[in-house]
Amino acid sequence: MAWFGARRRGIIQTIRTITEMKAWSDRIRQAQETIAFVPTMGYFHAGHLALMREARRRGNRVVVSVFVNPTQFGPKEDFNAYPRDIDRDLAMAESAGVDIVFTPSAADMYPAGADTFIRQERLPVHLCGLSRPGHFTGVLTVVAKLFNIVNPHAAVFGQKDWQQLAIIRKMTTDLNFDVDIIGHPTVREPDGLAMSSRNARLDPNLREAALCLYRSLAAAEGQIRNGVTDVAALIRAAEKQITAYPQNRIDYVRICDPDTLDDINTITGPALMALAVGVGDVRLIDNTLLRPGDQSLDTRDCRNMTGLPKTQSKE
Ligand code: AMP
Repeated sequence: MAWFGARRRGIIQTIRTITEMKAWSDRIRQAQETIAFVPTMGYFHAGHLALMREARRRGNRVVVSVFVNPTQFGPKEDFNAYPRDIDRDLAMAESAGVDIVFTPSAADMYPAGADTFIRQERLPVHLCGLSRPGHFTGVLTVVAKLFNIVNPHAAVFGQKDWQQLAIIRKMTTDLNFDVDIIGHPTVREPDGLAMSSRNARLDPNLREAALCLYRSLAAAEGQIRNGVTDVAALIRAAEKQITAYPQNRIDYVRICDPDTLDDINTITGPALMALAVGVGDVRLIDNTLLRPGDQSLDTRDCRNMTGLPKTQSKE
C-alpha cells in the first residue's frame, strides 16, 4: 500500500482489523519511525484534539483508536446511550494531523471465549472504582490489548481521568510495557466545564447544573489560598455547592493523595480533589490538584497537575 512509505499530510486512513493495524505498525517501526497513540471512545471534542496534537509532538506517526469498550461499562451504565459519530470524528482527527484512526469491532477485540482480564489491586479501590466495579479491569484489559496491537512508542491520556491515568501508568510499569505514558491537562469549556463526550447529553438545564463541578473545585482552590487546610470543611463546602441543584446526585467528593489515592485529612502538600456527580442521568467527573501556597499552576510538569482556569483551551 503506497501510503505506508511516505507521509501524506491531510490524508487520514481508517484501519478496522487487528491484523491490518499490527501490519501497519510493524511497517512503521521497520522504517525507524515512531508511533504516538491516543486511545479514545470517540465523539471527539477539543480535549481529544489536544491529546492528538500532543501525540503529534511525541511521534512522527499518530494513531487514534475509537472503540466504545463494552467491558468497562457496568450492566446499568450508558454503553448504548454513549454518543457515537465516526464521520465527524474522522474529519476532526484529520484536522489534528492524525495518520490512522483504528476502529476495531467488539467481535474482533473480544472473540467468543476470550477469558483473560487485567486486574489491579490497590488504585481501583478508590474513587470511580468503588461505584463502577469492574470498570478499571475493563479499561486495563482494553488498553493492554491496544498497546499490543498498535505497539506505540508513546501514548497520551487526559488528566480529567486522573485515576485512569494513574492505573495505566502502574500497569505499564508492572507489566513492562515499553510505552511512554504522557498525561495531558484537562481541557475545559470557556466557562470551566471539563470537556466530555457525555456533555452532549446535557440539556441547557443540566448544562447549568453541571457547571458546579468546576465551580466547587475552583472554590476549594480559593479556600486553600486563604489558608484552609481542613479536608472535611473543603468537602462539605463542595457538597453544598453541588447539591444546591436538585438535578445533581453526588457519587463522591474526595480529597486524596495524588499518587496512592488514599484519603487525607489535612492539606499539607499537593492533594487531589476529585468529584463524580450524576447530573440528571449523565455521570460526570472532574478533578484538580490542590496546592497550598502555590498559585503558579502553569509552570508545573503537566504529568503532575491538572490546573483549572489556566488550562482552558480555545480549540
Ligand atoms: P474518552 O474518549 O472519554 O474515553 O477519552 C479518551 C481520552 O481523552 C482519555 O485519555 C481521556 O482522559 C481524555 N480526555 C477526555 N476528556 C478530556 C478533557 N476534557 N481534557 C483532556 N483530556 C480528556
